[in-house]
Amino acid sequence: MKDIIDCCIPLPLQIVIDDVGWWSGEDGSKKHEPYRTGFIRDHVPADYQAIADLGSKLGMRPQAAMILGEWAETKDISSIPSCSKSGKGWNPENCNKILLEKTSNIIQSNQANIEITLHGISHEYWKEDTFTRGEWYDQNGKIRPIDECLQRLELFKKIMYDNLLGLFPESYVPTAFVDNFSPNKENFLELFKKYGIKYISTPFSTMLNAKEVKNKYYGIDNGIITIDRGQDLMQWNKFNVPIEGEVSGPICGMHWPNILHEDPARNNETVDLWVNHLKKYQLKLDRMLSKNTKEMCSQLVYHQQTLLSLNSNTVDIESSKIPEDLIRIINNSFFIKIDTDMNASFEGRNLEIVSQEYTHEGGHHVLEVIPHEDQCALIIK
Ligand SMILES: [Zn+2]
Repeated sequence: MKDIIDCCIPLPLQIVIDDVGWWSGEDGSKKHEPYRTGFIRDHVPADYQAIADLGSKLGMRPQAAMILGEWAETKDISSIPSCSKSGKGWNPENCNKILLEKTSNIIQSNQANIEITLHGISHEYWKEDTFTRGEWYDQNGKIRPIDECLQRLELFKKIMYDNLLGLFPESYVPTAFVDNFSPNKENFLELFKKYGIKYISTPFSTMLNAKEVKNKYYGIDNGIITIDRGQDLMQWNKFNVPIEGEVSGPICGMHWPNILHEDPARNNETVDLWVNHLKKYQLKLDRMLSKNTKEMCSQLVYHQQTLLSLNSNTVDIESSKIPEDLIRIINNSFFIKIDTDMNASFEGRNLEIVSQEYTHEGGHHVLEVIPHEDQCALIIK
């Protein structure tokens, strides 16, 4: 009989890339135009291919948190006055039909490796010719007028529809990382839920009322799971520089320039820096790269709410009750990694084994399982 040396329900990792969608790279903030990406050049379709390549090389579906204002027609932007500096500061000339069509084709043919995430239309909020930070909240955590939030959501939906970008996103990143974990924003989140939003991610370090979150990595805000993004490994406008530090939580947050190159034909050189940095998470016993947002959320919830106890050839698995709010948005399966003899095979008690493989590089077995009872077990045959 073979013994299990170690086992773990690994902490997942998902990539979230902010501020995708601008065509101009100019940081206009000093003249009260949008921050945009602060990149050295304007953006091109190859910059979307870079997201797809990052995802495909890691077997993931990175979230592209999109700002779609520069995809809009001028009349649409000017119909929401708080979206711009009186119509100035927007440069729709940067975007033309050819660019839109090329980008749309890239997004459509790379659905498995790009997930469009709601970020916003204009990123900030203008009153006459001056902006304050945050499109959906002000810096005090007060929600912007709800009718304007509705207009922005409608415009986001229209731009996606007009450009064949697929269904409205299920995930959302608050602009300027202003969020307020609050039971008093029911109407606001009901509106987001109506549009299909299920997952929010933002750094808890800048989220108001973060003390109300009971779990280390996530809280449930009016029925929507809100996940801590932690701290990005790189400043928002840096690119093609060595990546330092480790991702300690479930999200590797970054900004679009971080994965790009000054020469778009060389974007892959920067993408590969991230691929080399992140692929090692798949090899660790206690970490894994998630294929998509739903898998990341599911794995995170099971990671936090399941107890494993190891007894020679058996792993006893005890899941505490998962809140109703979460059951509707997570998978019924999760991944478990087991360090034992490479030739070992497994059977479940009150548990179904969906898939299993041995990774030689990581030196462990990876099993996807569905628990049928709160108490179940995995046993080496
Ligand atoms: Zn942003």
